[in-house]
Amino acid sequence: MSHHAMPPPFDVHDPAGIDDLLSQEEKDVRASVRQLVDQVAQPYVAGWFESGQIDDPRGLMKHFGEMGLLGMHLEGYGCAGMSSVDYGLACIELEACDSGIRSMVSVQGSLAMFAIWRFGSEEQKQEWLPRMATGEAIGCFGLTEPDHGSDPGGMRTRAIRDGDEWILDGRKMWITNGSIADVAVVWAQTDEGIRGFVVPTDTPGFSAPEIKHKMSLRASVTSELVLDGVRLPGDAVFPEVRGLKGPLSCLNEARLGIVWGALGAARSSLDAALSYAGDRVQFGKPIAAYQLTQAKLADMTLELVKGQLLALHLGRRKDAGRIRTEQVSLGKLNNIREALEICRTARTILGANGISLEYPVMRHANNLESVLTYEGTVEMHTLVIGQALTGHAAFR
Ligand code: FAD
Repeated sequence: MSHHAMPPPFDVHDPAGIDDLLSQEEKDVRASVRQLVDQVAQPYVAGWFESGQIDDPRGLMKHFGEMGLLGMHLEGYGCAGMSSVDYGLACIELEACDSGIRSMVSVQGSLAMFAIWRFGSEEQKQEWLPRMATGEAIGCFGLTEPDHGSDPGGMRTRAIRDGDEWILDGRKMWITNGSIADVAVVWAQTDEGIRGFVVPTDTPGFSAPEIKHKMSLRASVTSELVLDGVRLPGDAVFPEVRGLKGPLSCLNEARLGIVWGALGAARSSLDAALSYAGDRVQFGKPIAAYQLTQAKLADMTLELVKGQLLALHLGRRKDAGRIRTEQVSLGKLNNIREALEICRTARTILGANGISLEYPVMRHANNLESVLTYEGTVEMHTLVIGQALTGHAAFR
């Protein structure tokens, strides 16, 4: 191309021209996920958030399954075998709708399915993965407990052997998809350290009461898991993996989805603020014409663009098999923190309307409070990076 060629026109929706870094196939994945989300979730999601209930979560999961979004970056067993970047692009579109919708898909694919895919026996994989990929079976992932969140090593849920069987007792807390799940991946202490169990939720002694009164992630099912003498066959356990590296490697997998997804909530809030600022007239001019508003919009755009570049870079590294956990922490810490700041700033631009569910901004901001905390809090990721930089672990 001649260096006299005109650059393409400025695109408000891709201000830095990052789409240049995506293949046509990747753009197609993004477009088809956006189209599906616009059909099956976007028109209803504010209502689900308000009522604290998704109308038909099983039906919604099946829509996502039909599109190949469940375990989409896993190979075999009916999974789509796509790249990490494809998965990230899907997460942006899902979370531009609502973080709860993205959580539903992430927990199914990156936590429950990934755990079985990575650590399960061949029988466990055959039994669950194909049905989970279509959305016929829903999964959840139980690590957190009422008294053990950031420090899950001290968990109290316990599995003991009884002849050929296992008996599980304990409680898990804040478990996404818990009350609608057909299968729960549950991490428990055993005589050989922490091990993972595949628990069909119709096993006697298992129950999953829903957690109500949430102010965040209201369009998402969050539950307690109660395990009261749950008796499982000997082969319900993941055969090899022992210790915290099992659950932590699953979280690392899911975090990459958040690195991208959070930017979807931010993008949606920025879009809303931009459009509102253009329409809203005060002191005789659209508020978009004032320098203070423009400074906000410019700063939000900068952070969104930087976050997108970081997500894409980390996604490419993941696809090349070169990503480290510290790098995932860099991405999660930066992108969720900046996404939340973008939503809060967008909220100010909308004035009083910013607090209304008529606009997506406050819903996104409230949702991101959960995303800030789950899959490793801001403080935990700061400590991971701090340790990588200094060589000193400051967790305890
Ligand atoms: P705590 O660990 O008690 O932390 C409280 C505060 O203390 C935080 O700010 C934390 O960063 C800080 N802190 C803790 N230790 C230190 C330290 N050493 N130094 C400095 N600061 C520290 N869990 C699952 O297993 N599965 C799920 O599907 C799931 N879904 C969730 C959905 C929602 C909506 C929410 C809100 C949570 C979900 N979680 C899930 C739980 C989530 O992973 C935990 O909330 C998270 O790990 C934090 O644990 P905690 O809430 O017990 O906070």
